[in-house]
Amino acid sequence: MEAVVLPAVSRVAVCGGTHGNELSGVYLVRERLKRREDGTEPVSVVAVMSNPRAVQLCVRYIETDLNRCFTRAALRAPISEASPYEMIRSQELNALLGPKGSTQAVDLLCDLHNTTANMGLCLITYSDRDWICLHICKHLQA
Ligand SMILES: [Zn+2]
Repeated sequence: MEAVVLPAVSRVAVCGGTHGNELSGVYLVRERLKRREDGTEPVSVVAVMSNPRAVQLCVRYIETDLNRCFTRAALRAPISEASPYEMIRSQELNALLGPKGSTQAVDLLCDLHNTTANMGLCLITYSDRDWICLHICKHLQA
């Protein structure tokens, strides 16, 4: 049997408040931001409040759904003062945590949401071949 070698994960981002009225991620990010790393952590974890204006007003979004602003086209779109807040914010987040798909990007990004559907813990990953995400899902399910 061949051993599975997982890629190194050294930079992780935990994002909450992508939708400002989904409070689990907001709470977790606030708690995480209170902590001070002491340099002994094996992984660098940055906590980010994705949509602070929507969080402040406890609404899903201000002008447009931030979750729809991370396509490559949206991330490259010209920005002006007339641009929706979330379009501007997505480019700020891409600069902070990406650029998306680049070698400078964080190795793993956990974006925390809530749902009103009665579905319990729900994990969404973009690939069934992403070993890191599959291991995290297995751990959380246990
Ligand atoms: Zn959400």
